[in-house]
Amino acid sequence: MSTSSQIRTVRTRFAPSPTGYLHLGGARTALYSWAFARHHGGQFILRIEDTDVERSTPEAVQAIMDGMHWLNLDYDEGPFFQMQRMDRYKAMIAKLLDQGDAYLCYCSTAELEQMREQQRQQGLRIRYDGRWRPEAGKALPTPPEGVNPVVRFKNPASGAVQWDDLVKGPISINNEELDDLIIARADGTPTYNFCVVVDDWEMQITHVIRGDDHINNTPRQINILRAIGGEQPVYGHLPMILGPDGEKLSKRHGAVSVIQYDELGFLPEAMINYLARLGWSHGDDELFSREQLVQWFDSSSLSKSAAQFDPEKLSWVNAHHMKQTDRALLANETQKRLNAIGLDSNAGPALAAVLDLVIERAATLVQLRDEAALFYREPSVNADELRAMLDEPTRLAMNEFAQGLNSLDWTVDNLSTHMKTVLKAHNLKMPKLAMPLRLMLTGITQTPSIDKVMALMGQSIVMQRIEAGLAL
Ligand code: GLU
Repeated sequence: MSTSSQIRTVRTRFAPSPTGYLHLGGARTALYSWAFARHHGGQFILRIEDTDVERSTPEAVQAIMDGMHWLNLDYDEGPFFQMQRMDRYKAMIAKLLDQGDAYLCYCSTAELEQMREQQRQQGLRIRYDGRWRPEAGKALPTPPEGVNPVVRFKNPASGAVQWDDLVKGPISINNEELDDLIIARADGTPTYNFCVVVDDWEMQITHVIRGDDHINNTPRQINILRAIGGEQPVYGHLPMILGPDGEKLSKRHGAVSVIQYDELGFLPEAMINYLARLGWSHGDDELFSREQLVQWFDSSSLSKSAAQFDPEKLSWVNAHHMKQTDRALLANETQKRLNAIGLDSNAGPALAAVLDLVIERAATLVQLRDEAALFYREPSVNADELRAMLDEPTRLAMNEFAQGLNSLDWTVDNLSTHMKTVLKAHNLKMPKLAMPLRLMLTGITQTPSIDKVMALMGQSIVMQRIEAGLAL
């Protein structure tokens, strides 16, 4: 890290190419850049790298913004769009040409292919051979007629590029290994690596945190940055996220778009917590809030090895955050999800009380909705299943239980005592009554403790449903 970047205000950026949804890897990069800036009281910038016009779409821009919005990763500047900054890049290319750090190359595609073929045959490394590169005392070929040249960056011929990577540690690449990169195509449009450098410099980015698929670009970008008079930022290259099977994370492993996790019932707070741990740690802490993350997130505990996506752990983290969430908020979320499947939580017991009862049984908001749904829908009872449970002794007991409900003061304790009294009188075990009751009241046999379910459902509904069940 250079001394001056220690003094400069921290400025990080997330620079996605809008060619698809915001996937987990992208979301993690955004999160780390955001958390690093917030931790240091700096600024976080969103830059959309849309120069690949064939593959960039407005839908993808929207998907990225939606993902960031859902995760609540707020940015201080942007979104900047590279396509709107073409003039800046062109001006910089002109400057480099002017100062002799870039040159025109008239090689045709066929010529380049021939060059590569020769290199292959001679067992040499495939690279541009510098035939149009101006050197002192070297005679350059005559520019062919009617050919629009590309612009190449005149990479230093000797020396090395070095940086102390936040994740990988010190890295040094000899300039001999780098050839002269094309920075503007024949039609004048700047290339990806060039735009990144101009932007990182003009946007005064102090820390570039990105996926390690970009690590080969870094020495080239540093050289270009030096040529345009920029100051080297600190780089941190994050290892990729692997699927549970150790392969690169892909659709095969389930949802890969971050926003899909909203539909699947995950809370943004849980996603933040989980993604933060995919490549960073704070002691043994597995469960933490956004605020704690910001407080703790520095670069000292970034992991060098690839993280593995673990859906079970994500569910566990989500279950924790659901319990931490204010009940009113959780009720709101659940209400929305109930409405979406045509159920109305106003047509039954108070949702907050229902959530208290079922929260332990759910790891996602979808599971929570399904558990809560028992209280807001008409059960569809399988008559055969119920009849099989109601053998004669059980039927007698059930009748007696139902009769006693009439005059019962409707509390969990009273319901539980009443059940036990009836069971004892009929010499039956708990499941004999509890199972058919579950079925009659909810349509299923996997429910929370039945006395609690009855207490919440309310006297009249419980009595109606038992009556209906016994009549089946
Ligand atoms: N636009 C690049 C990508 O989406 C990121 C470039 C960078 O972070 O430097 O992979």
